[in-house]
Amino acid sequence: QGLLGLSRSKAVRQVIEKAPVSRDVVRRFVAGDGTAECVQAVADLVGDGRLATIDFLGEDTLDVAQASRTRDAYLTLLQELHTRDLTKAGAAEVSVKLSAVGQALPQDGEKIALDNARQICEAAAKAGTTVTIDMEDHTTTDSTLGIVRDLRADFPWVGAVLQAYLHRTEADCRDLAGQGSRIRLCKGAYKEPESVAYQESHDVDASYVRCLKVLMEGDGYPMAASHDPRLIEIARSLADKQLRAPESYEFQMLFGIRPDEQRRIAAAGNQMRVYVPYGDEWYGYLMRRMAERPANTMFFLRALATK
Ligand code: FAD
Repeated sequence: QGLLGLSRSKAVRQVIEKAPVSRDVVRRFVAGDGTAECVQAVADLVGDGRLATIDFLGEDTLDVAQASRTRDAYLTLLQELHTRDLTKAGAAEVSVKLSAVGQALPQDGEKIALDNARQICEAAAKAGTTVTIDMEDHTTTDSTLGIVRDLRADFPWVGAVLQAYLHRTEADCRDLAGQGSRIRLCKGAYKEPESVAYQESHDVDASYVRCLKVLMEGDGYPMAASHDPRLIEIARSLADKQLRAPESYEFQMLFGIRPDEQRRIAAAGNQMRVYVPYGDEWYGYLMRRMAERPANTMFFLRALATK
């Protein structure tokens, strides 16, 4: 919880970003600063049978020009992925945080975010692939699902993310489990109050299973995003129970986390998509990864201590 609080602190961000060791530690979870490094990492993943969804790092921008730069980074990335033949059959797609393309702007934020996201969707359609809209903290859930609905009117393949820690999510799953709907289910990565979110991990896990059941029983395309071995096994058995073909759902994990398990799932004939972040705005992302797992924090602290 403390680390999640710090993930939005400007002062701590400046210290961590300047720490001499940060770059080395970041490399474990982030595919690189620029498009070329990221595309190479994606080519390696696709080469060994995994799929990818790519996130140009950044969030909570309060600057219209920055929102446009983020949009342009996605346009360049999609073009490059297409040129390298990595978008074929949706092997590589992109994930977009609406707060990075303008949603948090005080004036016309939603409109600007929708417009930027629309341009990214157009580029994805040209490249022959899809877009998934990430989910951020609970104050943005309604706005984000509203923008996804607008995008889906023109691009019905746009995916959304639902977070099992929110009390509302089982109902959202029921609303969104229909034909053509692509839903990534994750536990949720933000610090949320008791009034809206389960606080105990066993309650979050139980909610995740209820939500998975709704999605697997529905007519959409569930994307089970978790590193949790128990939840992965449950996802697989719920899919089998519904007689789902392996291409009618997928597993997702983060770049650098449980890579052997990622390869094992892909080798067993399931679809395994890796979320690949890149860019230099890695602070918030890295802090959320450390908050999830003490071992990740120890990795960071050990690296600091040995410098
Ligand atoms: P955890 O509770 O973190 O871990 C459960 C178990 O998994 C652990 O007990 C351990 O057995 C195993 N495990 C976890 N990490 C490791 C490791 N490094 N090595 C070995 N075993 C490990 N969150 C959002 O809020 N919005 C989003 O849009 C979003 N998109 C995501 C996209 C993808 C593809 C993924 C995978 C996650 C995304 N998340 C998102 C983050 C998510 O909400 C969780 O914070 C994150 O995935 C950690 O939860 P977990 O399900 O992996 O389980």
